[in-house]
Amino acid sequence: MTTPYISVVIPVHNEEDSLENLYNRLIPILDGMGKPFEIIITNDASTDKSANILNSFFERRPNEIRIIHFNRNYGQHLAIMAGFERVRGEIVITMDADLQNLPEDIPKLVEKMEEGHDVVGGYRQNRKDLLWRKWVSKMHNCIRAQIMPGIQMKDQGCMLRAYRKEIVDLMVQSDESNTYIPALALNYAAKPAEVPVSHDPRMAGKSNYNLYKLIRYNFDLVTNFSLVPLQVFTMIGFLVSCLSGILVCYLLIRRLLIGPEVEGIFTLFAFVFFLVGLCLLGLGILGEYIGRIYQEVRKRPRFVIRNILEKKDDAP
Ligand code: UDP
Ligand code: MG
Repeated sequence: MTTPYISVVIPVHNEEDSLENLYNRLIPILDGMGKPFEIIITNDASTDKSANILNSFFERRPNEIRIIHFNRNYGQHLAIMAGFERVRGEIVITMDADLQNLPEDIPKLVEKMEEGHDVVGGYRQNRKDLLWRKWVSKMHNCIRAQIMPGIQMKDQGCMLRAYRKEIVDLMVQSDESNTYIPALALNYAAKPAEVPVSHDPRMAGKSNYNLYKLIRYNFDLVTNFSLVPLQVFTMIGFLVSCLSGILVCYLLIRRLLIGPEVEGIFTLFAFVFFLVGLCLLGLGILGEYIGRIYQEVRKRPRFVIRNILEKKDDAP
């Protein structure tokens, strides 16, 4: 058994129309690189024919391909994590199954890794997504860069990335039930780099993310990796206390000089509603963090694997 040099990890959820194309483009690229490789594909509980197609990949190339079947849908990042638990290659590549990431860009990532980097992220040039998707991503990229200055990436949504095996092992050890792999990797990276990669429109199937899922996802990313939202609320609380202190002093002095105040009841209402809203928002954010602590202390398995197709001597 030769130890692979490159491991490619791919999450799949309902991608029946893309998979054959993916196979036909990915395998020649990896074969052409002339280094031993493996491909680990996680079937994240697809309900279409993806599972059967993936099983046929294993039959075609049992030496290089391994298929993990989840018992239910756990999301893209945990699907990748399941693959990470089993990788053996020195360089680990992640990519999407829908061919929006081009397999042809893999050699570029590997080349950059070989210059001595431990994480190489792709950033999408001419991103071929719907306008609102690009806009949401751009906005969130900006906010994230402000509140997570330690984590520098041009394009947090691009999953075509390369990691050294040591970084992957650290990510697996992190054992977080909710995670965002590109950001987690940058927590451990000593020498990260970025390269431009191409991006194609989705040729088949439809995106697994709608606006709500996307906002949740981005919110998760921030609360998972930063305490800044909580700190912002401490600052707002401090500011509001100072301002209301000044207002009380002003009203007291006014009362002494001019007499009791009777007007301004609606202004008061507006103030109170604003502050109640702010308190609720603060509570919500606090709740997000408490929810996360709750998830972590329960220590439930992050995902359950139904079965794995791999050669016997490949099993860890
Ligand atoms: N995916 C997954 N589980 C999910 C959702 C998505 O494994 O619950 C996979 C999907 O099959 C694809 C990748 O994650 O390979 C990215 O998903 P998608 O293309 O829908 O995301 P988008 O490109 O729209 O951000
Ligand atoms: Mg996609």
